Amino acid sequence: MKRLFLATALLASLAGGAQKKAANNPKLFAATITAADLKKHLYIIAGPEMEGRETATAGQRKAAAYIENHFRQLGLEPAPGGSYQQEFQVYQDSLTGARLEVNGQSFAIDKEFSPVTSANISGTFRFSEVVLLPSDTTVVKNADLTGRLVIMYGPANMGRIVSSTLINTLRAKGVAAVLTTAGNFPRNAGNRTGAQSIYSFRRTIAPQQYAVSEGVARAITGADFDSLKANSLTAPKVVMANVLLETQKSTRALPSTNVLGVVSGSDLKDEYLFVTAHYDHLGKRGDSVIYYGADDDGSGTVGVLEMAEAFMLAKKAGRGPRRSIVFMAVSGEEKGLWGSEYYSEHPLFPLEKTTADLNIDMIGRSDEKRPGDTTNYIYIVGDDKVSSELKPISEAANNQYTKLELDYKFNDPADPNRIYFRSDHYNFARKGVPIIFYYDGMLGADYHKPTDTPDKINYPLAARRAQLVFYTAWEMANRNAMLKRDLGIPKSQR
Ligand SMILES: [Zn+2]
Repeated sequence: MKRLFLATALLASLAGGAQKKAANNPKLFAATITAADLKKHLYIIAGPEMEGRETATAGQRKAAAYIENHFRQLGLEPAPGGSYQQEFQVYQDSLTGARLEVNGQSFAIDKEFSPVTSANISGTFRFSEVVLLPSDTTVVKNADLTGRLVIMYGPANMGRIVSSTLINTLRAKGVAAVLTTAGNFPRNAGNRTGAQSIYSFRRTIAPQQYAVSEGVARAITGADFDSLKANSLTAPKVVMANVLLETQKSTRALPSTNVLGVVSGSDLKDEYLFVTAHYDHLGKRGDSVIYYGADDDGSGTVGVLEMAEAFMLAKKAGRGPRRSIVFMAVSGEEKGLWGSEYYSEHPLFPLEKTTADLNIDMIGRSDEKRPGDTTNYIYIVGDDKVSSELKPISEAANNQYTKLELDYKFNDPADPNRIYFRSDHYNFARKGVPIIFYYDGMLGADYHKPTDTPDKINYPLAARRAQLVFYTAWEMANRNAMLKRDLGIPKSQR
């Protein structure tokens, strides 16, 4: 109701002689990005119905439908091909069987061993020798381990098999399989599903990984068990044992989507400006714990919804953007920037005709550790990279309209938080598209916790921040030329 009334009122106010003057003023449209509207949308997006919006779940699909419906009702156009959603596949492994035998003796899954479902590939592997190793990175680094089966003694009760650093070292050494001995057997039947992945093909194969009981370790190592357990080996030791390792799993492809709505441009409609945020979050654990993700990134998502409305109202008032503006809410971010990665590899609009991406991930809270005023700032990242025109536009928009304190603390690629590489804009930047990233720095107690809830959002501040993005977008969509790409592409140091 309110939306219709507002549009009508705006159009009426623009009628007659006042039209030209008023219509040239983006303030009228920015003012439609309100704290109340952000709040209304966020209590739905970050409400219990959406179940934490984990990628490739029912909650994510509900959120996608809500966003699509919003775009559709406002009159935004779908992506080329007629859909508001760009689908990509997420792959999920399930363990269907596993075997472990030592010199013909078979051991029972969960009682004596458990495979690492995500890491392992399906297959049967037979080794006639096993290398005993202390869990000492220096010894591991100096050993000849190519294609071998190794056994180590892991810390008791450790959730994962060995540290990821050690696994990476073993992988780099070309180890074929690793057994980590743990004291906590028998175990309850473990989780039979592995982590999700965006690739069904892998660049390299990791070592096959199994946690094994002390009984299995004794069967393999015999008299050497005590020195294995005490981690007292100073060099690798090879023992003879016939070890059979088997993992069988099936892989399911689950769909997820990016949601897009387009406010088509006028004389420059074949050039594009992107405004993005991720709508996925961490989902739920069991039936009672929901990760609401109100700030991360419900706040950015509802900012995108409100900006789409503001630009659509401008268009209806005869002041639509010259370039087309694509509002895109992506999923898969929390899994590893998957949705934006998929988009950047399968773009629906030419990336070389995409003048910029303005990406928002968390704009509703405050960084408690920030010195000074925490109620009127935004962290700006990336405005001095790829294009020298980003910063002047961003600062002019802020000086003229929103008057926030623009904080560049996280803008250094050497910053340990590596923010430039940690949200979806990076997938545009690595393809040469200029980006600005907007971020509130909330890394406190509620970050990635079920307590990131909509009641903790500062809605007036979120509205001001979204208005800054709106004014910046307004200028970028309407100026004569696309942003020049004169500063090169920052490289991830990973
Ligand atoms: Zn986020």
